[in-house]
Amino acid sequence: MTEEKAKKISPNVFDTGKVCPNCGEHIFAYKFSTKVYECPCSCKSSTVKAEDAQHAAEKKAEARKERFAYAGVPRNFADAKLNNYRRLPGTEAAYAAVKGYLLSRQENIKAGNGLILYGPTGSGKTHLACAVLNCALEDGYCAAYWCVPQMLEMLMPGGDEAEQQMILDKALLSRVLLLDDLGAEKSSEWTRKELTIILDSRWRENRPTIITTNLLPDEELRRDCGDRSYSRLMSDHYQVVSVTAKDYRRARA
Ligand SMILES: [Zn+2]
Repeated sequence: MTEEKAKKISPNVFDTGKVCPNCGEHIFAYKFSTKVYECPCSCKSSTVKAEDAQHAAEKKAEARKERFAYAGVPRNFADAKLNNYRRLPGTEAAYAAVKGYLLSRQENIKAGNGLILYGPTGSGKTHLACAVLNCALEDGYCAAYWCVPQMLEMLMPGGDEAEQQMILDKALLSRVLLLDDLGAEKSSEWTRKELTIILDSRWRENRPTIITTNLLPDEELRRDCGDRSYSRLMSDHYQVVSVTAKDYRRARA
């Protein structure tokens, strides 16, 4: 481009007379108020683009790391996925349900659909539930894990109020919540009230909750979490599936 041509583009743009040793392009510059800025040549602009892309990738990786740290998935289940689940006899229905849930996860999460995986301790429920959570986290959803007995213990009156607020915020506001081991807590009027606050609020806000429990989804579960929570859990928002594998944990080792 000659200086004449450059002048047509803008009166402030001019050829500096320098040539990029790398791509051979003339280096143009423009004046803005009293300062002169060089325009990047092709190779320089591609470097800038690459740097921008790298910066964006770093930011994305950082956000992913923060999401996982916030979620608090137990270390044992940090890598839990559907494809590393041992499909033992008795896990077929739950495996199929989780697979189906994950295949349409955007719709399911948007609709506030949850899952209840019930069965004896050690049947591999937590792995499946964490697979859902890990997948949501990879997708960029804010998700959180709580082990119910631990969560309720930390929410007991007399505890650290700031910490309790954080626990409740996570339980109420996370886009996807995993309540692990519902029913392992020492049930009381107070625990039922706390669970109702969480389950009822999430149900009203269309926020999906994934639940694992060793209680049967009948009077046993109703007694544990109260009438109101139970009716939420038995609503169309939840798919209830049994996991009956014996000693999933031992088989895994
Ligand atoms: Zn260049």
